[in-house]
Amino acid sequence: LNEAASTRAPGHTSCRKICVMTSGGDSSGMNAVVRAVVLYGTSKGCDVYAVYEGYQGLVDGGHQIRKMDSHSVRGFLSVGGTSIGTARCMAFRERPGRLKAAHNLVKTGVDSLIICGGDGSLSGANLFRSEWPSLLEELRKTGEISEEQEKLHKNMSIVGLVGSIDNDMSGTDITIGAVTSVHRICEAIDAVNTTALSHSRAFVIEAMGRHCGWLTLASGMASGADFIFIPERPPAEDDWESAMCNVVKRHRDLGKRKTIIVVAEGALDKHLKPIKVNDIKDILTDRLGLDTRVTVLGHTQRGGSPCAFDRILATTQAIAAVDAVLAATPDSPSPLICMNENRTTIQPLMASVEKTQQVAQAIETKDFAKAISLRDNQFLDELRVFTATTILDDHSMSLPAHQQMRIAILHVGAPAGGMNVATRAAVRYAINRGHDIFAVANGFRGLARGSFEQLSWMDVDGWVASGGSFLGTNRAVPGKDVDIGMIAYQLQQKRVQALIVIGGFEGYTSLLALEKARAEYPSLCIPLSLIPATVSNNVPGTDFSLGCDTSLNAIVESCDAITQSAHSSRRRVFVVEVQGGRTGYLAVHGGLAVGACAVYIPEEGIHLPRLQGDVQFLKGLYETDDPEKSEGRVILRTEGVSSTYTTEVISKILEDEGGARFDSRTAVLGHIQQGGAPSPLDRIRGTRVAVHAVDFIELHAAAALNHAHKNNQEPPVELTDSASSIAVIGLAGTAINYTPVSDLLKDTDLKNRRPTKDAWSQDRKLIDILAGRSYYHF
Ligand code: ATP
Repeated sequence: LNEAASTRAPGHTSCRKICVMTSGGDSSGMNAVVRAVVLYGTSKGCDVYAVYEGYQGLVDGGHQIRKMDSHSVRGFLSVGGTSIGTARCMAFRERPGRLKAAHNLVKTGVDSLIICGGDGSLSGANLFRSEWPSLLEELRKTGEISEEQEKLHKNMSIVGLVGSIDNDMSGTDITIGAVTSVHRICEAIDAVNTTALSHSRAFVIEAMGRHCGWLTLASGMASGADFIFIPERPPAEDDWESAMCNVVKRHRDLGKRKTIIVVAEGALDKHLKPIKVNDIKDILTDRLGLDTRVTVLGHTQRGGSPCAFDRILATTQAIAAVDAVLAATPDSPSPLICMNENRTTIQPLMASVEKTQQVAQAIETKDFAKAISLRDNQFLDELRVFTATTILDDHSMSLPAHQQMRIAILHVGAPAGGMNVATRAAVRYAINRGHDIFAVANGFRGLARGSFEQLSWMDVDGWVASGGSFLGTNRAVPGKDVDIGMIAYQLQQKRVQALIVIGGFEGYTSLLALEKARAEYPSLCIPLSLIPATVSNNVPGTDFSLGCDTSLNAIVESCDAITQSAHSSRRRVFVVEVQGGRTGYLAVHGGLAVGACAVYIPEEGIHLPRLQGDVQFLKGLYETDDPEKSEGRVILRTEGVSSTYTTEVISKILEDEGGARFDSRTAVLGHIQQGGAPSPLDRIRGTRVAVHAVDFIELHAAAALNHAHKNNQEPPVELTDSASSIAVIGLAGTAINYTPVSDLLKDTDLKNRRPTKDAWSQDRKLIDILAGRSYYHF
């Protein structure tokens, strides 16, 4: 079949018959995979089938293998777990079971399988493909298939997607469902926090993860836990009980009223003895006299409705899986769709599975260094960041006295989820390093007035779960709204040796202004860093700003309710206005996460021909819809896209043009999009970036501080004037980059307040493709 397909004109793929299935433990986002395979596969001219009940359905065949269309996957995006079912199937582990499965596929005419599951499911898939010729031969010999069928079906393409809450697959930075699981864990810990605080209790929380501690590490970071236990890195001490008690006691002595310890279900000590939640509870009770409770989160962690990240990840990976099916040749090894450095990649399936299984083997042989090395670099960085910001250090992290600095931190621009998180992390890590760190109230205006206050470890306790800005934030920018001379004066007066700015595009333009003024004011010649934080995600030098994930989740929550209303009214199109200024990030990624049928974004603008095209498209959809099953639809419009075609105007045009076919309503989400509590991803990103901001400061101040110390001098006011000492601390995939603001200017559209290149813009066309139309080119 592959050969047959390859002889057709490029792009002509009409004969492909793709089966999609979910297998192993369910994870949130599996439904989004099925939906995208069905919608994208059919848009490519393929017939798409779903196998219900995992490998059991493949073995049973018949009604378990069903042809799918857009109606079959309606509503799938917002539903957790897998609506086509999953199972653990013993029969498929044996050859007779796989023989039946092969027969069922041949009978249906399927030539490709897309499987979303964990390492077990993917091992089974790989075995199935390697056996495929012999399975067909056996079926032909027993007369179950003809010689012609054997020839026609001699190749079977298999593509894997990793659906697993554990995030335990080598080769990919993140698995489908893991982030939703962290959402559930964080919600539980946030809820437990209030009772822990009220009663001054300790809680020991058990998270899933037999061989992988990622869920524990991520949720420990995101919830500000006091201590974590994970399988890959057992406590270094034989007497880990005392080590843990020392940390908890140190935190309690500071005045902490609550203690949170997160334990992976597979946590071990270095002699492979399991560390169990009830043992920890007894230790905390007996040794520290703490009122301690155990909470085992269990299957709540499997998910529920997927978060925005998992919906987008699942959708983009499913599309890549269909493309991989179409590109597969008989000889190419089965691919695994992965994510590396924020980009979709293809890795060899079996090599990734084997590497994953080596982690468990390394743990079994106590080779923990190897177990950790098999995890990606981000895992290691997150471990360091967790320790650096959560555990009050006993001075082992401190810098020599002459390198300890006075650091100021301020917020600028609109509030965004993660501003407080990043502040907390910067404060705690700075304190662990021996620095003095000062909060500046109310942005650059406060800085010019000298509104400084030193922050302590406990001042920022609990900030990890708080949205908005505790320091106060506004859009005032140096040089434009605030006198730079006063800023320089206050920095010198307060002997500030480094500044961390947390904010959006105003933060970026503020640093550009301060850089320009350096020649005039020596006190500006200090390391100046920007932690990007804005829901719009329009700061150059980073893939993600803090707050944009929180915002996407707020959009998803609102749009799920709106979509439900639209579906109930059957023939209704909602035009939903989202924030984003002059950037379409929220509309595009929000649109992918809620299944919007169109987006209007500033990068493209709105024009009459475009509107006419959309009206025709919607008329066509509602004309062909079965009247009994007709569905509601959602369009996302970025607020700043056009002053003429407002949300109201577009909705009225649709209402008039829709006539009897459909009506239209508007929803303006407004400040709801800033979210309440920051999302777990914003908490994790904020914590990492803040630690790196302090690292950046130390890096750029070290030479001047060391020089002064060597010459027995006071540290100079002017620590550095290099262009690289004013930088955006950006997330570039799993890495953190320090990019000088001066280098970013060439990639910035200052007038429209956005970067000229975006990692997300490639996803724009997917909205149209999944809606079943050709991409509207401008
Ligand atoms: P999770 O990570 O949630 O455990 P998983 O995919 O690893 O997901 P498993 O129970 O290991 O879950 O595997 C799911 C199914 O895949 C099994 O029930 C079985 O049908 C099939 N399978 C697993 N391993 C193999 C194998 N080595 N050979 C054939 N089939 C297998």
